[in-house]
Amino acid sequence: MPAPLPHDLIRPEVRDLPDYNAGIALDRFKATYGIDCIAKLDSNESPLGPAPQAIKAMQDAAAGVARYPDAANTALRASIAGALGQNADNVIIGNGSEDLIGALFRAIIRAGDHVVTICPSFGLHEFGALTFGATVTKVPFNDDWSFPVDGLCEALRSAPRILIFSSPSNPAGPAITEAEFRTILDHSDRQTLICFDEAYVEFIEASERFDALGLLAATNLPYIVLRTFSKAYGLAGARAGYGIASDPAMIRALMKTRNPFGVNAMAACGAIEALADTAHLARVTDLAMTERARVSAALTAKGYACAPTQTNFVFFDTGGPAAEFAQALRGKGILIKGWQEAPFENWARVTMATPAENDAFLEAVPARQG
Ligand SMILES: *Cc1c(COP(=O)(O)O)cnc(C)c1O
Repeated sequence: MPAPLPHDLIRPEVRDLPDYNAGIALDRFKATYGIDCIAKLDSNESPLGPAPQAIKAMQDAAAGVARYPDAANTALRASIAGALGQNADNVIIGNGSEDLIGALFRAIIRAGDHVVTICPSFGLHEFGALTFGATVTKVPFNDDWSFPVDGLCEALRSAPRILIFSSPSNPAGPAITEAEFRTILDHSDRQTLICFDEAYVEFIEASERFDALGLLAATNLPYIVLRTFSKAYGLAGARAGYGIASDPAMIRALMKTRNPFGVNAMAACGAIEALADTAHLARVTDLAMTERARVSAALTAKGYACAPTQTNFVFFDTGGPAAEFAQALRGKGILIKGWQEAPFENWARVTMATPAENDAFLEAVPARQG
């Protein structure tokens, strides 16, 4: 047995954090439970995978792996900038958008800074800030699952260093409305960086969509909008995400705090092809929209309250400890994510996959007692 680490070696901000509640990979599932996973519904991955050309591009790029990739990610940044009508100087690529969240906190947070987010929240929005000694205020969603605009505006009065939240929300599911978003911008100060995480933007119903980037650009506020290739584009294992910032100076700063070669050559080539195949994207989002309505209705019929969703998942009240509920489903080969953040320990998040996988989930869920 090696001697334990000296108690004060790890920074207390890091030592005291909980372990990240990541999903479980398929081979680990089989090794742990001794059965095949029949429905992997815990990580919001795409059941249709990436566009076929994306796989081809990654295979082709593999032939060149002896060389370092382009640290400036020139080709992918140009593709994204072209698709969004942005300047490539305002775009940054990360090893997943999680990498950019980390780069952001490294570049900006000083000990004692104040960060504001929403509860329930995407864990990394909070943990990344805590590791640098920030205090995090988590404003709870309203009871009807509308965004807590009043609470956020109140929290913005003290000009926190960063306001960071996802819309559509992971894990809750709802998307902020244009009017709500405008109100938040009206109450934000230039001292606060707005980090708007749009990991699920592709799944928003057409009638609910609005141009958040355009609204941000029309203000004089500093912002970064985050998006990813891991969800609707089906490239979670390749690791690519991107950010669009108000100012190229922000991009230059983040290029210093992310890993210079963090975006690998295969991921960069695959993402370009994934972005180009809009027909594939439409199949993915249409399927998720149909299935989220169907699964929400079926869960409701079984007595479970569901949050409204504009994403590829459904967040629902399991009626008891969600960890136990998720564990019982694992025994049946079904993986979902029991939420661990107070006060949502009774809630679970289930990813929308193929109709057959979703049916396997629904069949395994008992009608709620009482
Ligand atoms: C999945 C997700 C991300 C990022 O994922 P990457 O795979 O790192 O690109 C970021 N934010 C939210 C809210 C997510 O759900």
